[in-house]
Amino acid sequence: MNFCPLTKRLFSGKMSDMRQSKLFTKTRKEAPADEVSKNAELLIRAGFVHKEMAGVYSYLPLGLRVLKKIENIIREEMDKVGGQEVLMSTFQPKENWEKTGRWNDLDVLYKVSDASGHELALGPTHEEIVVPILKNYISSYKDFPVAVYQIQNKFRMELRSKSGILRGREFMMKDMYSFHTSQEDFENFYEKMKEVYKTIFKRSGVGHITYMTFASGGTFSKYSHEFQTITSAGEDTIYVDEEQAIAVNKEVLDGEVLAQLGLNKEKLVEHKAIEVGNIFDLKTKYSAPFDLSFTDDKGEKHTVLMGCYGIGLGRLMGTVVEALADDKGIIWPESIAPYAVHLLALGEDEAVLSEANKIYESLVKAGIEVLFDDRTGLSAGEKFSDADLLGIPFRAVVSARSIKENGIELKKRTEEKGKVITLDELIKHVR
Ligand code: ATP
Ligand code: MG
Repeated sequence: MNFCPLTKRLFSGKMSDMRQSKLFTKTRKEAPADEVSKNAELLIRAGFVHKEMAGVYSYLPLGLRVLKKIENIIREEMDKVGGQEVLMSTFQPKENWEKTGRWNDLDVLYKVSDASGHELALGPTHEEIVVPILKNYISSYKDFPVAVYQIQNKFRMELRSKSGILRGREFMMKDMYSFHTSQEDFENFYEKMKEVYKTIFKRSGVGHITYMTFASGGTFSKYSHEFQTITSAGEDTIYVDEEQAIAVNKEVLDGEVLAQLGLNKEKLVEHKAIEVGNIFDLKTKYSAPFDLSFTDDKGEKHTVLMGCYGIGLGRLMGTVVEALADDKGIIWPESIAPYAVHLLALGEDEAVLSEANKIYESLVKAGIEVLFDDRTGLSAGEKFSDADLLGIPFRAVVSARSIKENGIELKKRTEEKGKVITLDELIKHVR
């Protein structure tokens, strides 16, 4: 399969490998004093992100690599269900927002005006843009179904932006919008998307703590489905039925809902959780105001049915940090780690440096993503604690001792003890 050649290029070949002595970011002992969230504290200390202001972060080389890996996983899964990727505008016409009534009703909407006083919106979501676009192209039942998605920054006036990259005022979201001619067709697609979402969170390393959760459907349908990951940093409270692997958001928990879902209150376990994804049945809420309609095979006109499907990429990245980190630092799942191997050369010994260099070149040649800590003037302890903070899944150490033992000391970030193995074994192990 052939997805996104650009990002593929970013992760293949020499460009993706890095000598730490050349990496412009450095680790820090302390995070900014005003940073209260664990995810941002660790990500800032490790040099993955830079805080600009509350709820606004820049992604630095290591952080961008993680974000791109998450993006690639999501893109692959969206493409598999036939999603067509677009990039929509961030500046959005006020008229579109007036048409849906959200210019005044959406409290998180950033409104900006230019020198002539002309007002516009900074996109917090893209229904007001995607529907008018599609209206230009789809009008016959033969044009359906269609699913369009975007992966781009959105802007929301979040008042509670104290959760690091979990709750940005500017943040990256994947949003998909699907268009259907019948409720049945919509429901088939929606069921497929539930599975797609489970796959995405599984591939991102949090499948085991992420639950599909019944939540409020907003003004237009009974439920929406949130994907909630258990973490103490979460702002939501959910009730989990372990056996059925589903949950209910506290917002909608009542006897009637439990009865409808066949859940027993006694069996539910309360957890704090963060919403990493949310899928919605939009019905005709956004198609109607723009008169997005189609003619059926009898020539009759109907309003199009829609669904929408969001995931916050930064939020997912921050959730992984919150949920998996230990007291030494971040722990990345292999699938989204910035590099597969953190190669450490210990000491200033010439033999060690030249052996480590050789191993680095071999790993690069074998197509393995490796961050090479070739920095001089640091103690073994300093390099180890930086490696723990950065959280790369495998740590490979070259030292006078490992050379004496004819190998490389390989240790998993999640394990206490390493073992000495050969270069070939290392390559086989991490591939
Ligand atoms: P919340 O209830 O947490 O404010 P929401 O329900 O308003 O989120 P949606 O409109 O459903 O969010 O957005 C889809 C997805 O985008 C969410 O599931 C979440 O992963 C992500 N997301 C939403 N708001 C933010 C934000 N401020 N920062 C980062 N990610 C966000
Ligand atoms: Mg939501």
